[in-house]
Amino acid sequence: MTTLPPSARGLILDMDGVLWADSHALIDLPATFDRFRERNLKVTLATNNGTRTVEQYLEKLAGFGVTVEPWQVVTSALAVAELLARRFAPGTPIFAIGGEGVMQALRAKGFMLLSVEEAPQAEAVVFGIDRAITFQKMVEATLLVRAGKPFYATNPDKTFPTPRGQIPGAGAWLSVITTASEVQPVIAGKPQTAMLELALERLGTPREATWVIGDRLETDIAGGQALGCPTALVLTGVSTRAQGEAWTPRIDLIADSLWELVKPET
Ligand SMILES: [Mg+2]
Repeated sequence: MTTLPPSARGLILDMDGVLWADSHALIDLPATFDRFRERNLKVTLATNNGTRTVEQYLEKLAGFGVTVEPWQVVTSALAVAELLARRFAPGTPIFAIGGEGVMQALRAKGFMLLSVEEAPQAEAVVFGIDRAITFQKMVEATLLVRAGKPFYATNPDKTFPTPRGQIPGAGAWLSVITTASEVQPVIAGKPQTAMLELALERLGTPREATWVIGDRLETDIAGGQALGCPTALVLTGVSTRAQGEAWTPRIDLIADSLWELVKPET
């Protein structure tokens, strides 16, 4: 049996490799979300990809015929902003490298975002993937980190999937700063637990009844296990069944797809 047990109350779902690959759906998404409602499962969508805003994810889901509310989407950019907000007052000057997802999340917490010229005044450094990365941005971030300023990052993914193949992900760019500074950042995304904790808080479901579901062992499954939740690996993305079966600690369920986990009994 590869369906979720009746005790399941909440789901924390990865998106890429679980719901879709790039622009095509991996399963019948409207039917799957209908099943969540029928089974009274509360759902959050949690992604290490912090480049997009919550609104952009809602639009993408709507394009696949699925309506979710803004609270249901959690990104590593939101989680990194949450981590900073617990430590720094609004108005604190931050030097952030990242896309609109990161910038909007930090602005929403009231932080002052510095330009590359103003970077030396920063009280903390935030790193997310940035398609407009420059040598100077990396220089300023490295100097700040080497000077001991608190250092945060959205996610450690080494690569990012595209239709042409894997391209450098946040972790690959991050390695420039960690190599040059010999300092590791505080990471919000999976397999660290800050983003997953935020998703769990929003669901309000008991930890032991909240399933973390994803396609990548070393981020989704490792993160769910670190959070203390049951986990399910789906085989529509990166990791294979053989890799899943060899993983320790044991994964609670391995299924061909997310649909297989919730489909009606026949
Ligand atoms: Mg994935």
